[in-house]
Amino acid sequence: MANYHLTIAHLYGDLMNTYGDVGNILAMQYYAKKMDADVTTKLVSLGDPFDPNDFDIVFFGGGQDFEQTIVAKDLPTKAAAITDFIEDGGPTLAICGGFQLLGQYYIGADGERITGTKSMSHYTKNQHDHRFIGDTIIKDEQTGEVYHGFENHQGMTFLGKDEAPLGVVSEGAGNNGADGTEGVHYKNVYGTYFHGPILTRNGDIAKHLLVAALKRKYPDQDFSEQENMVIPATF
Ligand code: GLN
Repeated sequence: MANYHLTIAHLYGDLMNTYGDVGNILAMQYYAKKMDADVTTKLVSLGDPFDPNDFDIVFFGGGQDFEQTIVAKDLPTKAAAITDFIEDGGPTLAICGGFQLLGQYYIGADGERITGTKSMSHYTKNQHDHRFIGDTIIKDEQTGEVYHGFENHQGMTFLGKDEAPLGVVSEGAGNNGADGTEGVHYKNVYGTYFHGPILTRNGDIAKHLLVAALKRKYPDQDFSEQENMVIPATF
C-alpha cells in the first residue's frame, strides 16, 4: 500500500486520444509509484459530472476536429468547474486538441469556430491547407529543461498576455510557426502540442505535475524527496 493516493480525471478520454496520448496516464502511474503514490483514473466524458473536488490531476488529450466538435457541445456543462480547478492550482496536462479547448476558441480546418472552456486566454486560428507535422525540441526558459516531442496540428495557437510558453522552440513549429513559443505553462497547467506521449519522453513534466498534486492534496507533508527525484533522460 502506498502512503499517498491521487485521482486523475481523464477528460473525454474515449474521444480525445490521438497518437496514444493515453500513455501520459501510464507515465504518471509509473512515476507516482516511485513517489509512493497510488493512482486511480476516472474517465469523465459526455454527460458525466465533473466535480473539481473529486480530482487531483486533470488530463485532456488531443483529438481530431470531428471529435473536438462533439466534445465542445458538452464542454459548457463542465467549463466553470474546469476553470475553478485550474484557478485553484489544480495540476492539469492538456495535449493539442485538449490544449486548444481549454482556451477561448479553436477554428477548425474547415473554418468552423469551436468554443473552448475559456479557462485560459489563448486562442487558436486555422491555417489554409497546411499542418505542422514533425519532431519538436523546446527549452523551458525557467527551468532550463529541454523537452522532445512530435507535433501534428493545423491549429495556430496564440498565447494571452498572462500566459508563459512551456518552452522556446529550437526545432519544429510550436504554437503557431511564427513566434517561437510552444505550449503553455499557467499556474499548474501544462499545455502542449507534443504527442509522443509527452510524459513518457519528458519525465520531468510528469514529476512537476505529480509533486504539485501531492503538495496540494497533502499540504502538511514534505515532498522534497519526490521533488529531488532524478528522472533519467529517455531520448
Ligand atoms: N484537430 C486539432 C488540429 O489539427 C488538434 C489535433 C490534435 O490533437 N492532434 O490542430
